Amino acid sequence: IRERSRIFKIASIPGDGIGVDITEAAVRVLNTLSKTVGGFEFEFETFDWSSKAYLERGWYMPPDGLEQLKKYDAIYFGAVGWPDVPDHISLWSLILPIRKALNQYVNVRPTRILAGTKSPLSDCSPSDLDWVIVRENSEGEYSGQGGTSHEHSEHAVATEVSIFTQVGIERIMRFAFEMAKSRPRKKLTMVTKSNAQRHGMVLWDRIFYEIAKEYPDVEIDKMLVDAMTVRMVLNPKSLDTIVATNLHADILSDLAAALSGSIGIAPSSNLDPTRKNPSMFEPIHGSAPDIAGQGIANPVGAFWSAAEMVRWLGEEKAADGLMRAIENMTEAGVKTKDLGGEKNTKEVTDAVCTEIERLL
Ligand code: ATP
Ligand code: MG
Repeated sequence: IRERSRIFKIASIPGDGIGVDITEAAVRVLNTLSKTVGGFEFEFETFDWSSKAYLERGWYMPPDGLEQLKKYDAIYFGAVGWPDVPDHISLWSLILPIRKALNQYVNVRPTRILAGTKSPLSDCSPSDLDWVIVRENSEGEYSGQGGTSHEHSEHAVATEVSIFTQVGIERIMRFAFEMAKSRPRKKLTMVTKSNAQRHGMVLWDRIFYEIAKEYPDVEIDKMLVDAMTVRMVLNPKSLDTIVATNLHADILSDLAAALSGSIGIAPSSNLDPTRKNPSMFEPIHGSAPDIAGQGIANPVGAFWSAAEMVRWLGEEKAADGLMRAIENMTEAGVKTKDLGGEKNTKEVTDAVCTEIERLL
């Protein structure tokens, strides 16, 4: 008797611009993966929560949108943002409320050089750049606290308040130490700007050293964020696991992605480590209006994010298989323009699907 398949209910939010193209590509790859490997299936529900919809009807998410999402096993997200809507409106209407309401306090952003691709840094081999950035995803500089007074005068005053809590810092530190401990080099670099920002960043430093005592086998070091950008470029090999605040890690992970070959390959996982709420998986890139609608977006970051979702759902072997299929294709030169290739989104997607069927 054939065992019944596990069914994963996935909320799919393609969003804007190339988010739509790469989400469609990722759904195809995920369905091919489940059919080929067997034992699990995906049930996708697509949510039309986008800037385009907002411009037509005046809202991104319905009032019970966050409640609706709680019914799913995971969320797959494309990208949000469009030139006709101020970015702070689109971000605060969709992605930031989801991360906060669903307790996705960790954002994991692995970076490495995939087979057949290369770093813009000269003499940087794949073994020289293999990082995981652990981004605090719930507080800090993206707390949304503050305000503007005298807004429409010549004397406008604005405050942007960063909020750092002991609970928030301790939980992200513990996650980062566990991540560092699980990796071969057992090395954690913590990034702040505690020389100039003397409250929240100093608290980060203190809690980092306190939690470090629980992990004597993890090698630690501390960097200021400005010096960190230099070190990432000049000495990538000296880094492994990195933990940083919401804003700093946002910036560092774009740099990391560019150093690994293209922003189009980098994945991210917004995790609720307690597993009480669904986690959300999305490539780190945005909606890229400059190339939207042309069918040329690199879907690799979307596929890698999909692999991380499959892993989080407990299908480790399928996740490894998907990563192998992706890298077999990049190695064979099936790449989009941003990676120096000539293929479009559909051609790369077709190739990865065919490779999944051949390999698994
Ligand atoms: P966001 O504010 O949503 O993070 P952004 O303004 O940072 O967006 P992105 O949309 O991430 O910008 O894109 C920056 C540039 O990188 C784009 O203009 C595009 O040319 C390129 N790019 C991003 N993603 C991809 C991709 N998947 N494939 C190819 N090029 C990409
Ligand atoms: Mg960006």
